[in-house]
Amino acid sequence: DLSELSWLAKERTISLDEQYFSIVGNIGSMEEAKGVIEHGGEGIGLFRTEFLFMEKKQLPTEEEQFHVYKSVLESMDGKPVVVRTIDIGGDKELPYLKLSKEMNPFLGLRGIRFCLGEQSILRTQLRALIRASAFGTLKIMFPMVAVIEEFRQGKLMFKEECEKLIEEGVEIGHIELGMMVEIPATALMIEAFAKEVDFISIGTNDLIQYTLAADRSNEQVSYLYQPYHPAILRLIKNVIDAAHKEGRSVSICGDMAGNEVAIPLLVGMGLDEFSVHSAAIIKTRAHIRKLNKAEIEKKIDILLNLPNAVEIESALENFFYKKL
Ligand code: PEP
Ligand code: MG
Repeated sequence: DLSELSWLAKERTISLDEQYFSIVGNIGSMEEAKGVIEHGGEGIGLFRTEFLFMEKKQLPTEEEQFHVYKSVLESMDGKPVVVRTIDIGGDKELPYLKLSKEMNPFLGLRGIRFCLGEQSILRTQLRALIRASAFGTLKIMFPMVAVIEEFRQGKLMFKEECEKLIEEGVEIGHIELGMMVEIPATALMIEAFAKEVDFISIGTNDLIQYTLAADRSNEQVSYLYQPYHPAILRLIKNVIDAAHKEGRSVSICGDMAGNEVAIPLLVGMGLDEFSVHSAAIIKTRAHIRKLNKAEIEKKIDILLNLPNAVEIESALENFFYKKL
């Protein structure tokens, strides 16, 4: 029962062998930030900013965006807030932009690809964010990065806007710049990215759909949408290991971070941060507090060498649940 666990809102997330994990919240609007605090989230791991663009009949102005970002940062009282730049395209449309119809929208102009083509939209958003950075701890990340040049171009725009604002006399805070890993090629080539980014957040919702070539919104292929498929777990482990070598932290902000079967696997692989819907924060914390990271870590190689998701799931049950 969740109400019996409410005391956990004030606790840290420590495994049985005293390893610390961070649990933060996903939000899609300014109002949802309160829920993250109430449930004991240690920050915001994903602020999806699309709502700001989708609820209107035209693009939100820099001023409108600034007020939203500032109020989210203020309501988090210094706790880190990861804001994702607009991830339009795929299944998220902006009718007023009259984007061209695509045969495969999930493989088309979405996320950072769209933003690098529509630079003024990204620059306006970056300016609003940079101005808001003085009011809290801001981190910015780009979605759908496939090649390092995309991150570099986004970073260059970010730096240019920072310099302009500093020249204008605007006070700005320290801002970390990161990226999402949602594309298998990016997960495989992560060493090169890890050297240039401040932090990494894995978007498993998209990573799963691209790895198994199964549209995340198509029920006819939902049987292929398998979070514990060894291919997914190996990609995640590859990202965590390479990022740690470069001293970067790794978060997961897809639904997998709150998934009961996945959590022990992610703990054993050394994931640093779980970013989940605010209603799942306490449950995730309670779950991790019952696990022994070192013990799971010893079994990870065996698990990742199993041939399919079904075997991984049943091996997990045998290894951990019966023993713990
Ligand atoms: C993801 O892909 O896992 C993710 C967090 O982004 P979204 O669900 O908004 O695509
Ligand atoms: Mg995504």
